Order: sequence, then structure tokens, then C-alpha cells
Amino acid sequence: MLKRHGYWVGLIWMLVIFVLPLPFLQTLQGGIGGIVGAEWLPIAAGTIAYVWMLTSIYISTRPQWLDRTIGLPAAYQLHGIISLAAILLAFLHLEGAHSQGWVKLTGFWAFYLFLGVTAYSLIFMAGWLTSRLNWLANLKRWLEKVFRHEISIWLHRLNLVATILVFIHVWLIDHIRAITSFMILFTGATALVFLAYGYYCYQAHQGHTQAQLMEIKALNDQVLQLVIKLRRPLSLHSGDYIFIAFPEIAGLEELHPFSLAKIDSDRRVVTLVIRQDGDFTSQLAQLSNGQSLIVTGGYGLYHSIIQDQKPQAMILLAGGIGVVPLLSIAEQYADLPINFYYNAHSANNLLYEDLFAKWEQRDNFKAVRQVGRLATQEVINQLPDNRQGLLILIAGPSSMAHHWIRVLKAAGIPRHQIFYEAFNW
Ligand SMILES: Cc1cc2nc3c(=O)[nH]c(=O)nc-3n(C[C@H](O)[C@H](O)[C@H](O)COP(=O)(O)OP(=O)(O)OC[C@H]3O[C@@H](n4cnc5c(N)ncnc54)[C@H](O)[C@@H]3O)c2cc1C
Repeated sequence: MLKRHGYWVGLIWMLVIFVLPLPFLQTLQGGIGGIVGAEWLPIAAGTIAYVWMLTSIYISTRPQWLDRTIGLPAAYQLHGIISLAAILLAFLHLEGAHSQGWVKLTGFWAFYLFLGVTAYSLIFMAGWLTSRLNWLANLKRWLEKVFRHEISIWLHRLNLVATILVFIHVWLIDHIRAITSFMILFTGATALVFLAYGYYCYQAHQGHTQAQLMEIKALNDQVLQLVIKLRRPLSLHSGDYIFIAFPEIAGLEELHPFSLAKIDSDRRVVTLVIRQDGDFTSQLAQLSNGQSLIVTGGYGLYHSIIQDQKPQAMILLAGGIGVVPLLSIAEQYADLPINFYYNAHSANNLLYEDLFAKWEQRDNFKAVRQVGRLATQEVINQLPDNRQGLLILIAGPSSMAHHWIRVLKAAGIPRHQIFYEAFNW
């Protein structure tokens, strides 16, 4: 982890929980006076809930500054947890505040819409939760046969409708509408967040850059290699991931994230390695050279972690397709001693034998490529005596990452020297 990663995550949580709602509460309280003083608590609860709903929408626009500071997995976790907390506060608001007519109806509709979407999203869109609860992950896998990821994305967007309903709800309340300072803040913040969302949707259609597929080939029966030429340079580093979409092809229009196996910045060429897992990835095999696509990025924290820690040695632990970001890292940091442990379910899923053979000619590079699980004790026994300056990067299934984080910590490696970037959020 970034030495200061925990600090940044904590700071952003504090900002969202305590600082962002403050000006809203202050301007509201100043204007409410004695009119509905007894209802202050439920009104405050509703106000905080709305601020967190807006924050949650803003996070869903994947701001690059937030990704490079705390990473998208931590950002999505914040997004999910403040949405849950907002529902709780909205419930308190609904129970405590008295209203009638359209005010009541809009508030009521918004609450139940928000509740329904959040319950749905906790199963289908909260990788931070499903990666920790096996039964929920199994339920998700089973239900995803019908509720495809694309359907989930569209249902998730109903949160925007719930937010607009709350916006109308507040504008319909006479004594709140009369508080000019609050209404300016309330309307301004809503407009800014919806503008950010609009820009995000625009980017989802345009990308940060257009690109062209130069080459596509199968590495085995499941995995494809795509070589892509970017029309303009992006700020990309080894270990990063980008989002790609093919707007001209039905079923491939939504942006999906993939890590960079290789970057040639001078030629603006990147290589992706993609396992055909579902709707989007399975269709890629039909693409032909020259196909145009859009790309956004780069995202990811591996590079920032390496820059922050300036390691003297690295251990790379890869499981299955998780190897991809670690390939570009192993290529770039040729001057650092690297022990690369890589396992997969079958021999033909151990990719790039030739690349590993090339790296193994370096004195400072050792690789263990293995079918099946790596022997935990063997890896622990091979840890260097001098652990200061050692950085361990993990990429693969979350169960594998949780296992290694636990055993490495037990072996005395400080947590900030171990970093894992998940392939699901
Ligand atoms: C940071 C990151 C880096 C990744 N790098 C690689 C890589 O280098 N190579 C590789 O093969 N795979 C990578 N993936 C996984 C890849 O993005 C998914 O396998 C792919 O998006 C699945 O889409 P699908 O429609 O084929 O499958 P689906 O059947 O729709 O979904 C399969 C699983 O992927 C999840 N998923 C689907 N769409 C998205 C999306 N847009 N964003 C996040 N999750 C999604 C679904 O929730 C589901 O659990 C990465 C994922 C992340 C988050």
C-alpha cells in the first residue's frame, strides 16, 4: 500500500462524512429558525442523506484524481457504504418528518426506488462485498445468468431518478424553498454533480482517445491478446488499467476495464490480454484488425505504490489472468531484483513462457510458474532476510489475495509493503 494510502483513504472518508454535509446543515439551520425546529433532526438526516447521494453519484463518474489517490476499489467501497448510510438516514427522515401531497409522494417514491436499487446493487455491483462473502458471490454468479452486468448498470442508474425526485421534493417544501442560501447551495451542488455525470456519459461515448485495433490473436482457447494503437497519448504507467469499448459494435458499447500487459509509449501502442469470461469478452474474438475503439485511462495504483515506496526488491504474486498488470511491471523494473510467482489452473493458461524465459536471463530475476496452488511455506521460506525495501504486489482472485496478505503479515511483512489491486469492485 502507499505509505500514505491509509492516510488519504481516512482523510477522504472524514471529508465525505463530516465536512461535505456541514455547509448544507449550517445554511439550513440558519434559515429554519423556530418554524419547524422540532423536526430539525429528521430534516438534518434527510439533508445528510442527500449530500451522500450526490457524493455517491460523483464517485460513480470515476474521477481520475480519486483513482490515483485512493484507487477505484476503495472509492467504490466508499460509494457503496455511504449509499447504505444514506438509506438509513432517509428512513429516519421519512419516519420523523411530516409532509403531505406531492411533497410526501416524491419523498416516498425516491426512498423506495433508492432502497430497491441499493439492495439490487449490493448483490450485483458491490465487488468489495461479494469478494468477502462467498454465499453472496455464488448468488451473484447464479443470478447473473439472467441479470447481466449491462442490465445491472442500467438498473443502477435509477439512483439518478431517485435523486431527481428528492430534488423536486425539496423544491416543493415552502419553508425550505424560502431559505435562499440553502437553496443556492443545494441547487448548485446538484447541478455540479449532474454536470460531472453528463461529462462522464459523454466520455463513455467518446473515450479519452480514439484507438485502432492493430492485432488480435488467441493465446489459448480462452485468452486473447489485443494490440491497440492510441490516436493520442494518455498518461499510462506499467501496472495501469484502461477502459475500452467498441461503440460501433452491438454488445461492445459499454466501457470495460483491462490491465496493460505491455506499453510502448513512444509508439502509443498498448497490449491487453483478455480472458473470455462473459458477454463482452466472449464477443471480442470476432473482431478484426483495423477495428476502431475508444479508450479511457489510465487508472490504477501499482505505479504510485512503486513510486512511493521506491523498493529495492519486489515479489510479484500472480494468479491466473491476474498476471497481466504484473507483466508490464516486470518488464519495466528490469534493474530491480524480482521474484515472480505465477500459478494457473492448467499448463496452457500459464501465459508468455517465452517472456519469462527472456527475463530469467537476468541475474536478478527468478520465476516460479506452476499449475495449481503455490506452496505457501516455500514462498515464505524464500522471502529475503532484509525485508526493508521489499515490496510485494499481488494480482489475481480476491480469495488468493486475502490468503497471501494474511500469511505474509503473519510472516512479519508490514501491511504497507503488500499491495493488491482487485479485478472486481
Ligand atoms: C481493474 C481491473 C482490471 C482488469 N484487468 C483485466 C485483464 O487484464 N484481463 C482480463 O481478462 N480481465 C480483466 N479484468 C476483468 C474484466 O474487466 C471483466 O472480466 C470483464 O469486464 C467482464 O465482462 P464480460 O461482459 O465479458 O463478463 P460478464 O459476464 O458481464 O461479467 C463477468 C464478471 O465481470 C464483472 N464485470 C462485467 N463488466 C464489468 C465492468 N465494466 N467493470 C467491472 N466489472 C465488470 C461482472 O460483475 C461479473 O462478475 C479487470 C477488471 C478490473 C476491475
